[in-house]
Amino acid sequence: MIKTISYLGLGTMGSGMASNLLKAGYELTVWNRSAEKCEPFRRNGVHVADTPADAVRHADLVMYSLSNDQAVEEIVFGANGILSGIKAGQIAMDMSTVLPATSLREEEAYAKRGVDFLDAPVFGSKSESAKAKLWIMAAGNKAIFEKVKPVLEHLGQTVHYFGKNGNAAAMKLVGNLIVALEMEALAEGLVLAQKAGLDLSTVMEVVKIADFRSPLLVSNGQNILKRDFSPSFALKLMLKDAGLIEKFAESLQSPIPALRVVGKNLKSAVALGFGKENASALIKALEKETGVEVRPR
Ligand code: NAP
Repeated sequence: MIKTISYLGLGTMGSGMASNLLKAGYELTVWNRSAEKCEPFRRNGVHVADTPADAVRHADLVMYSLSNDQAVEEIVFGANGILSGIKAGQIAMDMSTVLPATSLREEEAYAKRGVDFLDAPVFGSKSESAKAKLWIMAAGNKAIFEKVKPVLEHLGQTVHYFGKNGNAAAMKLVGNLIVALEMEALAEGLVLAQKAGLDLSTVMEVVKIADFRSPLLVSNGQNILKRDFSPSFALKLMLKDAGLIEKFAESLQSPIPALRVVGKNLKSAVALGFGKENASALIKALEKETGVEVRPR
């Protein structure tokens, strides 16, 4: 049974998950590159480690949620990284959104040390992470998955098993392809509605109930109308994911013509300086192009 957990990466997603592990009663150690994000945990009696290697030494399970493949590369493989502290019999689980190829590289490196590995990325954002309502994908050895599942059930509302390592990372990119297209559809739709002189509050009422409704369209649409672009899922992370989807789809020769258009708009919005805002700030690229701002009258 898993009792001791180390959590590395206390960003938007990791901080919510680590808090919920603490609430669930696990003995927790945390590490984050910017030390100040560890302070609320220290105040709650959590052990704060100085390096990733120190953080993982005594944990049954090592979990991490980091920005991108490069961060995983540094924190897992780098000097004082996880691999220099972890030992046979421990379990490592990467909850970041990364390329399936990165998950496979992690699996191989951990296996050489007798460590089991799961890729376990998530759907949901800041609020779902804080409220333990994530939708979690997991892949790797089935027996190890079963061992870790009770931990994941403290973080999410559902947990799906996808088979061999890399498959959960692949599912995450499939899901984010759909998310990216929905965000583009919302942005294009709202700009068109604004230009057509429609009442935007009524437009959103219809988006909320019609047969094309989705919670993602509703929450992002309402925030766009309020001009609230505070980040739950940063625009720059969506641009990063578009790059991952492109690479992954190309490796399988799977067509992604619409994603390429979204990628171009994401790049424009980031170049305009909105990378740290929420992904819904994608609309600002279209607003700039058309010279309108989507706002209820
Ligand atoms: P975030 O708030 O930007 O946090 C990123 C974390 O990674 C921080 O702890 C950051 O440390 C750390 N980090 C970045 N580069 C690093 C490096 N080179 N070395 C060490 N640590 C590094 O991002 P997030 O929203 O929590 O996302 C985390 C992961 O979950 C990403 O892969 C993202 O794509 C995925 N995801 C996000 C959402 C969402 O809605 N936000 C939803 C599903 C999946 P510092 O604090 O020092 O910067």
